[in-house]
Amino acid sequence: MTYDYIIIGAGSAGCVLANRLSADPGNKVLLVEAGGPDKKMEIHIPAGYAKLHHSEVDWGGYWTEPQKHVLNRKIYLPRGKVLGGCSSTNAMAYVRGNKEDYNDWAAMGNRGWSYEDVLPYFKKSEHNKDLHNKYHGQKGELTVGFAKDFETPFAGAFIKACTQCGFTENNDYNGEQMEGAGPFQFTIKDGKRHSGVTAFLKPAMSRKNLTVLTNTHTKKIIVENGKAAGIEVMTGKNVSQEIRATKEIILSAGSFASPQLLMLSGIGDRDELKTLGIPCIQHLPGVGKNLQDHLFYPVSGLAKLPLGQNHHIKPLNQIADLINYLAFKKGAMTIGPLEAVAFGSTAQSPGRIDYQFHFTSIQVGNNYDVDFYNLKTFPVNKDGFSILPTLLRPKSRGYVSLRSNNPFDFPIIQPNFLSEESDKEVLIVSGKKAIQVVQAPAFDSYRDQLIYPPDSSSDEAILLHIQKSMETVYHPVGTCKMGQDELAVVNHELRVHNIENLRVVDASIMPTIVSGNTNAPVYMIAEKAADMILGYDV
Ligand SMILES: Cc1cc2nc3c(=O)[nH]c(=O)nc-3n(C[C@H](O)[C@H](O)[C@H](O)COP(=O)(O)OP(=O)(O)OC[C@H]3O[C@@H](n4cnc5c(N)ncnc54)[C@H](O)[C@@H]3O)c2cc1C
Repeated sequence: MTYDYIIIGAGSAGCVLANRLSADPGNKVLLVEAGGPDKKMEIHIPAGYAKLHHSEVDWGGYWTEPQKHVLNRKIYLPRGKVLGGCSSTNAMAYVRGNKEDYNDWAAMGNRGWSYEDVLPYFKKSEHNKDLHNKYHGQKGELTVGFAKDFETPFAGAFIKACTQCGFTENNDYNGEQMEGAGPFQFTIKDGKRHSGVTAFLKPAMSRKNLTVLTNTHTKKIIVENGKAAGIEVMTGKNVSQEIRATKEIILSAGSFASPQLLMLSGIGDRDELKTLGIPCIQHLPGVGKNLQDHLFYPVSGLAKLPLGQNHHIKPLNQIADLINYLAFKKGAMTIGPLEAVAFGSTAQSPGRIDYQFHFTSIQVGNNYDVDFYNLKTFPVNKDGFSILPTLLRPKSRGYVSLRSNNPFDFPIIQPNFLSEESDKEVLIVSGKKAIQVVQAPAFDSYRDQLIYPPDSSSDEAILLHIQKSMETVYHPVGTCKMGQDELAVVNHELRVHNIENLRVVDASIMPTIVSGNTNAPVYMIAEKAADMILGYDV
């Protein structure tokens, strides 16, 4: 089997690439995905979000190593293993990050990646239903907008409470300014998740020059004379197969699997590869390094009235909601867990946004043993709400490395969470602000009492709560970073240094993590990469 382009991984980036590269009927394109088709009903119903993690559409085996600065906890890392990748399992928030994040990338020597350069690529994908200004696109494939078919009063109270605590009210954090509090923008279309598949891949599936192989695990990239020439895969029928590419191979397997695949193919740190018996084809010590992620934890209160989403988690209410959803595409099933958001800054990053509040009208309880993200173990708590203070510009850095040379083993993931004091500081300071927001007058008619953190009397007590309850926001990036320095893996055109015909295009190329959720930036990266691959002047 021979194609012009092979794309490894049908996640957020892979779906965009498959669409753009196959738009020219002259290009024969193959998209290879380890997971299956996106048939699971809960993928498409926004409220089905919580039923996706720990399910058959999740890889299920990604865990961090024990985290020294987080009471030695191992943190679970959900990752979509299905067409659409994480865009089929994420919380659907559409956030681009801060203008300065991209200006930083350009200042590091990555030509063409300033905010001014990347804005057209955000707009290219976007069909914004609600916001019409110079920052938004209307003609793209991806529907973006506010969730209007269901709203709890807690979300409005949160936004108002934030303004009572010094935030600006901001209806468009993707626009002129990011600071402030307002409603989330979501990738939901007609009450259904609008994923990489439904927005970009499905419209291209009927093209004769595009082949999509699901349940096909890429084991390695074949490099011949310094040139990526093909891939070795294991098909769903457990048959090993070689597939060749005449033009390019594009690695879009995400921040854990992309560096893993490079290393399995002999591209990585020469000494590390040697210990696993993998012949080194190209010494690139940065492969897998520079891992960064956002972290959050709950500040949660009980409500006086059952007006939040806990009420809707009860089995009988779920049935009523499902009927309302199926019949009218209205009600609690039309939204995911998130409703509103705020962005702010602490003294650690003067003038720069460094924390985010994810607001959810779900009260998470106050039991540290409960897996917040696993609906099977999640108790139906009394109604309430939670603010999730989120660290946006972490200084801690970690790595992904091989556990073995077996392509089916999960890699070692060592993020070194909270290894930098300033990361703890931002989480503590933003947590105190969140407590202030919960206690603001706008919440008076809804708030019963703050129950989580159980003790917020000192920074030490808040830190202990953070360490016991903290999770990642599932935004790992940076493990195949773009740049020219000794840890750089790809150049500004996303070509792997010193290997021909091989690019990495996914969240792993970010040199520094953006100050916001990462899905929209990955779509942008893939849009720009597609233009570069097709030789357009970018
Ligand atoms: C639970 C969760 C909630 C999130 N919520 C949000 C949110 O609300 N908003 C937001 O902006 N971001 C969110 N994110 C993050 C965002 O979805 C990701 O940053 C983004 O989807 C990453 O895109 P990607 O293309 O880099 O990787 P992925 O989307 O992970 O795609 C990688 C693909 O490669 C496939 N693959 C991996 N290894 C192989 C192999 N060996 N062979 C073949 N295929 C392989 C995978 O199965 C997957 O389909 C969330 C993520 C998760 C997990």
